[in-house]
Amino acid sequence: MPEKLYKLPAAFYEHIGKMSFQEIAETVATAFFGEDVKEDDLKKIVDDTLSFDCPTVKVEDNIYSLELFHGPTLAFKDVGARFMARLLQYFIKQENKGTVNVLVATSGDTGSAVANGFLGVEGIHVYVLYPKGKVSKIQECQFTTLGQNITAVEVDGVFDDCQALVKSAFMDSDLQKAMTLTSANSINVARFLPQAFYYFNAYARMQEIGKADNLVICVPSGNFGNITAGLFAQQMGLPVKRFIAANNANDIFYKYLQTGKYEPKPSIQTLANAMDVGDPSNFARVYDMYDKDWETVKAHVSGATYSDDDIRATIKQCYDDNKYILDPHGACGYKALKDLLQEGETGVFCETAHPAKFKDTVDAILGTPVEIPERLQAFMKGTKQSVPMSKEFADFKQFLLSERSSAN
Ligand SMILES: *Cc1c(COP(=O)(O)O)cnc(C)c1O
Repeated sequence: MPEKLYKLPAAFYEHIGKMSFQEIAETVATAFFGEDVKEDDLKKIVDDTLSFDCPTVKVEDNIYSLELFHGPTLAFKDVGARFMARLLQYFIKQENKGTVNVLVATSGDTGSAVANGFLGVEGIHVYVLYPKGKVSKIQECQFTTLGQNITAVEVDGVFDDCQALVKSAFMDSDLQKAMTLTSANSINVARFLPQAFYYFNAYARMQEIGKADNLVICVPSGNFGNITAGLFAQQMGLPVKRFIAANNANDIFYKYLQTGKYEPKPSIQTLANAMDVGDPSNFARVYDMYDKDWETVKAHVSGATYSDDDIRATIKQCYDDNKYILDPHGACGYKALKDLLQEGETGVFCETAHPAKFKDTVDAILGTPVEIPERLQAFMKGTKQSVPMSKEFADFKQFLLSERSSAN
């Protein structure tokens, strides 16, 4: 969690509707990193990160979709990944560190976002470890076809084996001596902050059309990183009335709101699989932010939980009524607003992935094929390149060491 709370002045919020996404993000980023990163450089990092838009799109009266899927891999994690890559590059240059090697274990989406965020970034090499045969075809294309400074490592095992290899690598003294290693998950603030940018922008765009009063923001949540950034923006003074965390059938947070007890469980597989989390890693942050007090948490965030049947019915209903195609994650967000929005409020939900990323599911529900955006088609045409790997650490270690000698 960032150490300080950076309140932005009231005047900023009064006029925010006249500012562009880039200008807003520069202001917020300066509040955070102004002391550590030179102004011009920070501006460059921000502008490069936000080379794609996060628009608010009207779905129906009083309900808007904040589309976070216009980045390279069509899911919201792109925004944070790019910013992290650029910021890391900046610090590497400052410290003259030579090549830094980023290791990331993925069950699908994190790997593609991190790989695309770091693609072509000088001074950084990324190794994406993924379980063979256990990620979707589209996801696999998004990190195995890139080349350049991205190496995909196909592990003969499950996700936990990939994670274990990464952890062992960080603890291995020979590797530490031979190369600079870092994890894509360890630089929390850098990944987390850009997720706050788009909440500021959402508020601004709603102010621009005179709809910012009594604004409710609903976030489809799994690990609760995304919503934590929104709650943090609110703490920085962003005038959002309240938040809703929409869950799929993994209802640990929802139950907590009902009972005051946090009881993690093994995750259940659902149609909204990026939210299949049984012990949300950012719950502790939310809890801390509100002084570990149940009543305070409830005053800021309400919850909702939906089954796969609800998700299917919602995708169908929203398309029939509004001709707007939701993905299974966004469907939870939209449905929660429909169920919980009160008189006089305007709702914005995060649409966290493009429906084409879940094409089989969405096509089956709507009975018509979702169009695949060109960016996604381009990935699918690329040639898969990956390094086959056993799940034994000795093999992985030897591979990393041989990479180093071939690079030198
Ligand atoms: C990661 C992800 C989520 C959940 O975000 P958290 O920050 O883990 O709560 C929701 N939707 C999609 C499409 C995702 O990839």
